Amino acid sequence: MQTWTVGATTVTRIEEQIGPNDSPAGSFLPQLDRTRFEAHYPWLVPTHYDPASDKLITSNHSWLIRTGRHTILLDSCAGNHKERPWLPRFHHLDVPFMSRLRAAGVTPEEIDIVLCTHLHADHVGWNTQLVDGRWVPTFPNARYLFSRTEHDHWNPEIGDRRQQNPGRAGVYDDSVLPVVQAGQVDLLDGAHAIDDQLLVEPAPGHTPGHVVLKLNDGGEHGLFCGDTLHHPIQVYQPDWSTRFCEDPVQAAVTRRAVLEHCVAHRALLFPTHFAAPHVAAVEPDGDRFRPRFVGCRCSD
Ligand SMILES: [Zn+2]
Repeated sequence: MQTWTVGATTVTRIEEQIGPNDSPAGSFLPQLDRTRFEAHYPWLVPTHYDPASDKLITSNHSWLIRTGRHTILLDSCAGNHKERPWLPRFHHLDVPFMSRLRAAGVTPEEIDIVLCTHLHADHVGWNTQLVDGRWVPTFPNARYLFSRTEHDHWNPEIGDRRQQNPGRAGVYDDSVLPVVQAGQVDLLDGAHAIDDQLLVEPAPGHTPGHVVLKLNDGGEHGLFCGDTLHHPIQVYQPDWSTRFCEDPVQAAVTRRAVLEHCVAHRALLFPTHFAAPHVAAVEPDGDRFRPRFVGCRCSD
């Protein structure tokens, strides 16, 4: 198990997969400057970048957050058996994700909150699982927290989205709608305090309703940033948005705000897609930032 601590809260990484992105680095990060990028090769290669294929290496994992009051799954990866032909990395997966969750000491029934930072296919998959040919909620006792802005952005019944993008509609149908129909969803308007330790805040740009989770336990801080950052090179280059950011300019503004929060509060940054060691403190570097990677307290 790979576990970090923030005060008395434990944060465990539940891996779905780690490997090369589907698209080359310069396509994934359209503003990528090769000279600046190559200056980072000593730490980028081979863990975070493969020069031979020009692919960034990224992880897809959930964060299992255990505070004194809550057992939270933050982002739920891509899921098994989902029909994603336009996303080869996430198409028809068969990964022992649930075994890894159980190995961390948690049953699906014990998860009381599932928080999706946004509703892209790689963040909602384990919301549901296939049982007797139907998609049903994986976590029967959980409240699933989504931003209302985000939910309404993806709801295919608004406008003619189902016709415009059948793939996106399919993600909603198999990974969002079943938990809505089960009455397990709470739609969040603006900032939302889960309790006095956990604050969900809007962080738009990657998607319109993207949120981050801020944790404060005994004066120690963590920030779960979802896809406000995909790759650690963006700590050094916070203005490099990905081609999957729906509003790249706003995404860069939000990215800087996330990094500045980490500096100001000495918060550990818990992204969803960084390769090992997955977690970093953030230090200022002129008008940019640099990561100081923080290893886990690891055990099998
Ligand atoms: Zn993602």
